[in-house]
Amino acid sequence: MDIDVKTEVQQEKEELIRVRRELHRIPGIRFDVKETSDYVTEKLRSFGLEVQTGVGKTGVVGLLRGKQAGKTIMYRSDMDALPIKEQNEVDYVSQYEGKMHACGHDGHISIALHIAKILARHRDKLKGTIKFVFQPAEEGAGGAELMVSEGVLENPTVDAAIGLHIWNYLPIGKVAFRPGPLMGSTDMFTVTVKGRSAHGAVPQGGIDSILVSSHIVTALQSIISREISPLTPAVLTIGTINGGDAFNIISDKVEMSGTVRTLDPEIRKFIPKRMEDIIKGICDGFRADYEFNYMHRHPVVVNDEKMTTLVTDVAKEVVGEKNVVIAEQTMVGEDMSFYLQQVPGCFFFLGGANKAKGLDYPHHNPRFNFDESCLQTGTEIGINALLKYLSK
Ligand SMILES: [Zn+2]
Ligand SMILES: [Zn+2]
Repeated sequence: MDIDVKTEVQQEKEELIRVRRELHRIPGIRFDVKETSDYVTEKLRSFGLEVQTGVGKTGVVGLLRGKQAGKTIMYRSDMDALPIKEQNEVDYVSQYEGKMHACGHDGHISIALHIAKILARHRDKLKGTIKFVFQPAEEGAGGAELMVSEGVLENPTVDAAIGLHIWNYLPIGKVAFRPGPLMGSTDMFTVTVKGRSAHGAVPQGGIDSILVSSHIVTALQSIISREISPLTPAVLTIGTINGGDAFNIISDKVEMSGTVRTLDPEIRKFIPKRMEDIIKGICDGFRADYEFNYMHRHPVVVNDEKMTTLVTDVAKEVVGEKNVVIAEQTMVGEDMSFYLQQVPGCFFFLGGANKAKGLDYPHHNPRFNFDESCLQTGTEIGINALLKYLSK
C-alpha cells in the first residue's frame, strides 16, 4: 500500500506531544475517566470513525472500516491514571490534586488517536476493519474484563489484537518483544485463622491463632521452593498480617492478605489448590478454623508467536534491527491479558526512559515522565503493524 507512514507520522510530531500533554492535565482514576473518554470520543468522531461510548462504563470503541472487506484487528489503549500527587514541575502538570498519569497511559492514548487519525485518511485503500479500544481501569479495577464481558471482541468479531506500553525500564529508542508469557498474573488472597482466646500464661484450652498463622506463613513458601520447578518463576507474598490485642492474651484471630504472581497459566491454577491444602492441614492439626479467599485478577499476558513475529519485523524496519530487543519478563500485571486470552495478539514495550534528560523515574513514581519522542515510534510501528496484518 502506498502510504508514506514515516512522513505522515513525522508531520504529527508536535500534535502527538500536544495531545499527550492535554491528556496529562486531566487524569482520571479507574472507571472515573469521563473527561478523557469525552476527549477521545470527540477526536475519533472528527476523524470520521464510528464511535461507541459507554462500553465498560467509560470505555470508548472507534471503528475504522476499510473500503474492502477483510479481517478485524483491535488496537488497544488504556486511559486511566493513578491516585498519586504529581511532583513534576512541567507546564502540563496534572490539574487534579492527587491524580496523575504516572504510568504513561496519556502517551498510549495519543499514539492510538494518531494511528486512527492517519489511517482514517487512507480508508479507501484499507482492507478490513480496525477496532480502536480505549479502556478505563487498567490499574487493577477490571476495565478490560468488563469491556470483554460487554462484547468488545464482537460485532465485528476481533481476529487479532495489538497494544503497547511505554516502558521506562527500557531506554528511549529501544522496543522490546517477547513471544509467549510476558507479564505475570496478579492474583490476591486473604486468609483468616480463627482460634480461641486464653490467658497468655495459661495456654492450654486456648487455640493460638498467631502460632497457627506462623506455621502457615512458613509452609506456604514451600509451594514455591519445593513444588514448582526452580526454572519456573512464581512468587507468593504475604503482605499483611494482623492479629492479637494484648501481650498477655492468646489471640483468637489473625488476618493475612497477599499476592501470587506467575508466568504460567497452569502453575497459576496449581498454587491456590496447594495453598488451601496446606492451610487446611495446619488448621486441622491445631484445631483452628480458617477462611481462605483467592481472587483471580489479571491473567498472564501471553503473546501469540505469529503476531509477535509480525510486529517485531515491522519494528525492525522502523527503528533498525539493533534497537529491537527481547523483552524481559516481569511480574508486573497488565489487563491486556483479558483480550489476549481470547484472541491472538502482541503486547510490547516501547522504551521511554532518557536518563540524560532526567526522564527515567519508574512507573507509578510521582516524578514519572518519559521521553516524548517515543510517541512517534509507537505510532509508526502501530500503523505499519495494523496495515501488514490486514494486507495478509
Ligand atoms: Zn501502571
Ligand atoms: Zn500501565
